[in-house]
Amino acid sequence: MKQQEGVIKYQLNHTQQPISSQYSLTDINAWRTIAVRLDLIGQSPERYDNIGFGNIRQRIAPHSAQFIISGTQTGHLEQLSPEHYCLIVKAEPQQNRLQSRGLCKPSSESLTHASVYAQNQAIQAVIHAHSPEIWKQTIALGLPHTTADIAYGTVEMAAAVEQLFQSGKLTQTSLFTLLGHEDGVIAFGRNMEETAWELIKHLSLAIRIELQCVNR
Ligand SMILES: [Zn+2]
Repeated sequence: MKQQEGVIKYQLNHTQQPISSQYSLTDINAWRTIAVRLDLIGQSPERYDNIGFGNIRQRIAPHSAQFIISGTQTGHLEQLSPEHYCLIVKAEPQQNRLQSRGLCKPSSESLTHASVYAQNQAIQAVIHAHSPEIWKQTIALGLPHTTADIAYGTVEMAAAVEQLFQSGKLTQTSLFTLLGHEDGVIAFGRNMEETAWELIKHLSLAIRIELQCVNR
């Protein structure tokens, strides 16, 4: 892996303060645990030099520009507590700037996520997963994707995501792969459940193709 998952590339203005207990983390937490069990989010000595991978986030309320995201380097934990989440107070993908609050700093790629939210107010949830299966079948599955020359968490990535939305390729599929970021996949939806299903559905389609190749 060329870029390290844990490296924070953007300009981060972080306040080390607990996030308000008014935010319910139950939904995001349950789906994150499922993603960890499916190896879509996690940390493993066999993958990416043991650096935590993937993250999950949710808008705090419909139409709000603020969201809750799992903190950086929490991949080794199957279940998270409120101190492992972070509130994105303000995201400015074009300026490469982010303001956050929490006892944990936000995961890398927060700007890529922010550019997903900026495209459509109906998007309430985003999961950034690492799936070798889906990623490798990008072409076979005809998945929308950002190209191999675009590194994750950069201003270029934020712009590429915007282009992908404008191209109309994401009207049928709420998932795209990041070919410049090994195994990187982003799914989004109107809620956590819809987003997670989109991811799991494509995992099943990718595994189906793998099995067809093996059995041929
Ligand atoms: Zn990643």
